[in-house]
Amino acid sequence: MKIAIFGAGQLAMMMIQGDHANHHDYVVIDPTTNPPASRYGKHIQTEYDDEDTLKRISDECDLATIDFENVPVEAMRELEKHICVHPNSNALEICQDRLNEKKLFSDLGIRTTMFDKINSLDSLNNSIEDHKSYILKSRRFGYDGKNQYRINPGDRIKTNLISQECILEELVDFESEVSLICVRSIKDEVLFYPLVENKHNDGILSISVCPSNYNDLQSEAEKIGNKLLVSMNYVGVLVIEFFVTSDRKLIANEMAPRVHNSGHWTIEGANISQFQAHINAISGGIEKNQIISYKPSAMFNILSEFVTEDKLCLLKEKYNVHVHDYHKSERMGRKLGHITYTCDKDGQLSEDISAIKKILQ
Ligand code: AMP
Repeated sequence: MKIAIFGAGQLAMMMIQGDHANHHDYVVIDPTTNPPASRYGKHIQTEYDDEDTLKRISDECDLATIDFENVPVEAMRELEKHICVHPNSNALEICQDRLNEKKLFSDLGIRTTMFDKINSLDSLNNSIEDHKSYILKSRRFGYDGKNQYRINPGDRIKTNLISQECILEELVDFESEVSLICVRSIKDEVLFYPLVENKHNDGILSISVCPSNYNDLQSEAEKIGNKLLVSMNYVGVLVIEFFVTSDRKLIANEMAPRVHNSGHWTIEGANISQFQAHINAISGGIEKNQIISYKPSAMFNILSEFVTEDKLCLLKEKYNVHVHDYHKSERMGRKLGHITYTCDKDGQLSEDISAIKKILQ
């Protein structure tokens, strides 16, 4: 098959790399110059909604997918008239807007953060109770903690975020954050990875660990995953991010309609990576009820801070690590690569994570 991927970042790169048997040909669409996936697929450098490109993709490709959730929905709707698009444009439209996501969670009876729609300073002031803490978030284009503004009790509000459509969320006093990687195929087969525990720094994912300390919440998370997959008629990988409270309740925060940073460990750590699973799910199928087997693993993001060759050599000498380089130029807070550690010795994972963190500091 010929598959078009809208967005040619590291996620598209790892999707193509995950197709070990070269089952498919790939075209990647991205307005930037030399994005990571352009080394692996044919790159069309254009805006995502360029009419000629959409026509060319409908003529030449069998199906389309995304590595970036902010591809214009209308472009995907146009493509859908001619070829299969996974995830579908309605699912994309929901996941592009935090308000739509939260409404869907509520409609499906999924516990989520308390939220309010905010479109002016007046509506913000009316929603705030003096003794509570909140986060104001833009409804769209928020990622890695961007476009967010924290409001503590008594704060004088000073933000130009309010010029955009926003939602106001009550601050959750969480114990941890976990994500569930869900996969649904065109044949309605469904697969879940074990919950992954995530640590963030300044809103950016820093470390993901599997298994999490919340195995007892797996079946509840999967029930939520099933509801969301079915309600959106979703095909491909969908990732749900949750807060976990101290009384072990899951609170849905947001969804990513694509493969996700918290699933990168699956390349070395699981019997099928999230990237392979996504491509298989959208192009054919996944083995029915396939059990995900995995090794205890941890993924460390490499942000713009420089990790020296010496540190990488030391890590490789001492631990079973794999370094992934996205071949990107350095920029503040940019994800340049990641390191996955897989652990062969029982009970050794958390000790080794601490030691690896020390080396990376
Ligand atoms: P998000 O873009 O919604 O994933 O937010 C980025 C990070 O900010 C999350 O991973 C949390 O660490 C934090 N955060 C977001 N929303 C809330 C909330 N309602 N309460 C507490 N922390 C939050």
